Amino acid sequence: MGTAGEPRTAQHVLVINAGSSSLKYQVVDAASGTALASGLAERVGQTGAVGHLRHEVGEDVHERELPLPDHGAAMAAMREAFEAFGPELASANLMAVGHRVVQGGPEFSASVRIDAEVVAAIEDVSDLAPLHNPPNLAGIRAAQATFGDLPQVAVFDTAFHRSMPAHAATYALDREIAQAHRVRRYGAHGTSHQYVARTAARELGLAPESANLIVFHLGNGASATAVAGGRSVDTSMGLTPLEGLVMGTRTGDIDPAVVFHLARTAGMSIDEIDTVMNRRSGLLGLAGSNDMRDVVDAAEHGDDDARLALDVYCYRLRKYIGAYTAALGRVDAVVFTAGVGENSAPVRAGALRGLENLGIMLDEAANKSVRPGAVSCISVQDSPVTVLVVPTNEEWEIAREAARVVQAI
Ligand code: AMP
Repeated sequence: MGTAGEPRTAQHVLVINAGSSSLKYQVVDAASGTALASGLAERVGQTGAVGHLRHEVGEDVHERELPLPDHGAAMAAMREAFEAFGPELASANLMAVGHRVVQGGPEFSASVRIDAEVVAAIEDVSDLAPLHNPPNLAGIRAAQATFGDLPQVAVFDTAFHRSMPAHAATYALDREIAQAHRVRRYGAHGTSHQYVARTAARELGLAPESANLIVFHLGNGASATAVAGGRSVDTSMGLTPLEGLVMGTRTGDIDPAVVFHLARTAGMSIDEIDTVMNRRSGLLGLAGSNDMRDVVDAAEHGDDDARLALDVYCYRLRKYIGAYTAALGRVDAVVFTAGVGENSAPVRAGALRGLENLGIMLDEAANKSVRPGAVSCISVQDSPVTVLVVPTNEEWEIAREAARVVQAI
């Protein structure tokens, strides 16, 4: 992944992504993107369940079952795995620990070195991401206890989108209520969008400051970002990740009055509606699976529900291309990334169908022969708008951000 030429000094960062019942980690060279080792602790803090740790070094995979009552225990198990199976953390010469933090709220427009004030600020915006920020903080606290001598850096999923102009970030909601409760559009997946936008600009031979892009991060969660001159000027996720594109289990854009309707006519509670819209809708709700592979397969075998799910999914993508073309004025490239974006030729084709008038001309053969893990151009040579597939690498972006913050201090 490093660029050819003179050798660079390794700048190793321990990247931590702490979820509600998991802890993902990777030691990454911020300069080259090379991962020395990675791992995943699962079933963390789940009463009655035995924890599981998977530690990978190159081709070697080591797995263990052990009690993981909390994130501190998971961090200790990770450290033991490094001691038992390598690489030795002492000789990796770690320069920082980089933490993924989902919600930075209005305050954070860039990655920051973590101190008591930063922890308090992350806590303060936890009401905006109640499922994510508390476990992110548990990961930070566990890392502070285990690696107290290393600088800790918070890298926010929302920070890239703080450049959105007010007209894109503001809901037309009663102003006082919105201000009192910090209701505005924050977006998500910012680390991925930032990495992919920079990589795409380089692929186009453009400086990041001059590239206008529409980036689709299509994973189980999915979002689109309009990038003007390297900065996010609009994104499809809003106050929460529910807004925007159709996702594995989320509705994406929907009339908010559906909530009132279900509460009044179906007698559903707010929590029940939350569960339906976030966990039982999207591809799963329409076609019975949240995995795009299953949906495409079923659609190709004549399943009408799967066909409709795919049509709804792709139509939403096309609508966002139209909207973001209007927002940007000039589009250099449409870029696909993440599980679905990198791997599903039918989704990419469906998203771009009929957009020749916008200057988007897909090369059908190139679209079908994208190599996994490689940056690929899938538009015809004289397409006014280039179409790219760019594999995302959020861990590398977090490592780069952590290294940048530490070196600037
Ligand atoms: P991510 O959240 O980026 O890990 O993406 C996960 C999603 O990618 C899965 O739920 C699948 O729907 C999708 N995915 C992975 N591989 C493929 C594939 N070969 N074709 C279509 N979708 C895929």
